[in-house]
Amino acid sequence: MRLSRYFLPTMKDTPREAEIVSHRLMLRAGMMQQSSAGIYSWLPLGFNVLKRIEQIVREEQNAAGWNEALMPTIQPADLWRESGRYDDYGKEMLRITDRHERDMLYGPTNEEQITDIFRTHVRSYRELPGRLYHIQWKFRDEVRPRFGVMRGREFLMKDAYSFDVDKEAARLAYNRQFVAYLRTFDRLGLKAIPMAADSGPIGGDMSHEFIILADTGESEVFCHKDWLTTDSVPADVDYDGDLQPIVDSCLARYAATDEKHDPANCPVAEADLVHTRGIEVGHIFYFGTKYSAPMGAKVAGPDGKEADVHMGSYGVGVSRLVGAIIEACHDDNGIVWPEQVAPFHIGLVNLKVGDAACDAATEDLYAKLGRAGIDVLMDDTGDRPGAKLATMDLIGLPWQIIVGPRGIANGVVEVKNRKTGEREEMTPEAALKRFAG
Ligand code: ATP
Ligand code: MG
Repeated sequence: MRLSRYFLPTMKDTPREAEIVSHRLMLRAGMMQQSSAGIYSWLPLGFNVLKRIEQIVREEQNAAGWNEALMPTIQPADLWRESGRYDDYGKEMLRITDRHERDMLYGPTNEEQITDIFRTHVRSYRELPGRLYHIQWKFRDEVRPRFGVMRGREFLMKDAYSFDVDKEAARLAYNRQFVAYLRTFDRLGLKAIPMAADSGPIGGDMSHEFIILADTGESEVFCHKDWLTTDSVPADVDYDGDLQPIVDSCLARYAATDEKHDPANCPVAEADLVHTRGIEVGHIFYFGTKYSAPMGAKVAGPDGKEADVHMGSYGVGVSRLVGAIIEACHDDNGIVWPEQVAPFHIGLVNLKVGDAACDAATEDLYAKLGRAGIDVLMDDTGDRPGAKLATMDLIGLPWQIIVGPRGIANGVVEVKNRKTGEREEMTPEAALKRFAG
């Protein structure tokens, strides 16, 4: 992509309304723009990252055995009347009336909708387990939308659902999602800690929030200090195998949100306990027959008797992750994208557009890197060299190749690693070989 043709409205000044670093950097890097409180337009750079995160989430859901579908954003109120949540949900729900005076709503989540799909089609225990997910926009009229995409009113969520014959079968689905979450956040370059969370009216041990430690997080959390150093994600997972040992090894290391943390009964010694803040990026939850019972989602068992199915739901805040990754990956000069979600792999900077040797070397590298399938953003604008380099640092691409008149006269370009700041001079051919093999 040529920067001269790319819509990248960067800002030099720090926007005053942004309270935390990810919000500031997303605005300054031209990733998004507020439309109204908690509602954003995703501009090309931000949308690029959002799609990459979504794709990693999708691949791991598929690997864990879930089928992707897509449910609507607008739902009929009647479904929510069946579960009893139409009245319970309160002001966070955006209620709409259509031209025929029918009550509708913009979905804040999809348990009712998915339960309706399930009960329409599934009759027998032989058709279980049921495993469906979608990645869709949600709307919650949050009392205090803030921190940019971290607490929006409109936000993108991956929500998966499971249907099983009993609690033990539901636990297998739960464990699959638990492990899929470890893998997903690991691939995103994040350390997300599964923390025992409030499990609502059903109780039990099957509710975990996945939380990234960050001072700007909204959750108050407690964890064993080993979580700060240990790496818990297995490289190759056999989802059909026994996942309980993986889950148990995580649960053996204490971590809990403040709702669940009980200082009087905490198994961790004071000296080993970390008390800090975190950002919730995912939540997995078993809730038994909470929706299946009132909505009549049942299957016939081997004995022919009908029973309500046991359900779980599993959410990931896809759009929140864009901000959460920036909270975890930035420095004083801007964003430092982990390679897996970087919008482009390389920023190719022509410091002196119009200089024949610079232009030729830059265009040649651009063409060859492109042919090798590498995502390159080439700065071919007439901006000052200092501004170009500052923009590249701000938008945080993992690598920069800097082409300047002095270097080119000596036959070299500079290759810079955004994360470490290390710079290395080499010939354009060597640079090409480094990235295109
Ligand atoms: P929170 O406690 O942060 O309000 P929640 O318990 O309401 O979260 P869930 O209903 O479990 O969240 O939704 C699943 C995921 O969706 C959350 O883990 C979070 O990552 C994301 N999420 C929830 N609310 C928002 C929001 N207002 N803006 C962006 N992401 C959100
Ligand atoms: Mg909430």
